[in-house]
Amino acid sequence: MIMNLNLKEITNRMQKFKSVKGFKDILPEDQFYWDFVRNKFISIVKSYGFERIDLPILENSGLFVKSVGSGTDMVDKEMFSFETLGKKKVSLRPEGTAGTVRSYIEHGMLNRRKPVKLFYLGPMFRYDRPQAGRYRQFHQFGLEIFGESSPVIDAQLIFLCKQLFSEIGIETDIHINSIGCQDCRKEYIGQLKNYLKKNRKNLCPDCQSRYLKNTLRVLDCKEKGCQEIVSEAPQIIDYLCDDCNKHFVKVLEYLGDAETAYQLNPLIVRGLDYYNRTVFEIFPKGNEKRQSALGAGGRYDDLVRNLGGSQEEETPAIGVALGMKRIINILKKKEDSGIITSRTSDIFVAQLGERARKKVFSLFERLRRLGFDVAEDISKTSLKQQLEEANNLKVKFALIIGQKEILDKTILIRDMESGSQEIIPEDKVEKVLIKRLKSIKKV
Ligand code: AMP
Repeated sequence: MIMNLNLKEITNRMQKFKSVKGFKDILPEDQFYWDFVRNKFISIVKSYGFERIDLPILENSGLFVKSVGSGTDMVDKEMFSFETLGKKKVSLRPEGTAGTVRSYIEHGMLNRRKPVKLFYLGPMFRYDRPQAGRYRQFHQFGLEIFGESSPVIDAQLIFLCKQLFSEIGIETDIHINSIGCQDCRKEYIGQLKNYLKKNRKNLCPDCQSRYLKNTLRVLDCKEKGCQEIVSEAPQIIDYLCDDCNKHFVKVLEYLGDAETAYQLNPLIVRGLDYYNRTVFEIFPKGNEKRQSALGAGGRYDDLVRNLGGSQEEETPAIGVALGMKRIINILKKKEDSGIITSRTSDIFVAQLGERARKKVFSLFERLRRLGFDVAEDISKTSLKQQLEEANNLKVKFALIIGQKEILDKTILIRDMESGSQEIIPEDKVEKVLIKRLKSIKKV
């Protein structure tokens, strides 16, 4: 029987191993987008004084239990945890804040000039149900600021997030709320429980247990039935203590002064234990679906102390994590993203004949070291094929060396756009290239 299978189907049928569910490859053609976003973000946050920190992917499980909190989905259901051969319980990090705080304490960063501003990027792991925009391994770009309680820092961080997105061509909506401190939350949670009690049996099974263990989380449940119930619930903002209220009003004032639009959203509570006061989420403009969120963050003023940092001195802190893949998915759909999505070069070195090939072998390296953006296809013997590749790479000039050029110690330089050619002495090649590239404003 002849089956009509394409190459991909045939390979799929033959392949024994596939990537693990929810774990994705990032292919070369996507790396242009990743480089673009990473480079832009890094350069912007560095100008805001952030320094890079790279953290291990594996941490002791207890770190997440103590910081993110037991009773949260992330810790109870979503961690990739296992026991090492040495019988230690470890987890692939589900988020970046806990590890950053652990490192901050472990390396005595408390003694550095405040605020200490750190950024990280890398993979996180959560055993969630994979779907569009939700993966089990996903990458976050995170920012953390330690040692400052001033509301201006909250506003500046939110403002910075808005800038990061706007500079890569994505317009965003910022949703913001305050969940107060332990004291104001206590009273609020009591009121919320009272309200939910009447509707308890209509909550989803998860929220039935959240009602007891982590009541606030009912507010940001994704289930429609729960969302309807909480739309009428009391709002935490009405229960803020004086200090928390003042702090929040100031944050909003600074944002207003910086002309940063925001939406107050009483349902944003961030389910993790460590958050207090300001919490926020970032959505693509006009799309507030939870699974579309591009980033989220908030204050965590007690976490450093709770994880064993200075007990005498307070270390207020705030952070945000942005979801790289969701950002890249948006950019890939945009026709006018302006991102160059194929390799391009200025110069191509081509050869015809074995002696010329040896020459081009070293000419390529010489030009590369001088800083030229140069390409080659040295395994090919056909000049036609090499020039096709030069065309693919949209190079400005091809340098061609054949038998005659070897004997004359010359190089043929071909302007790939006009097709005009000129023979130049081999030892003048750098000078000629600099001049020609300069004339097209490249060097
Ligand atoms: P969170 O750490 O849950 O506050 O998430 C911060 C951001 O990371 C979200 O707004 C998403 O953009 C991204 N993110 C979180 N979980 C996932 C996931 N499972 N897959 C892809 N991106 C995610």
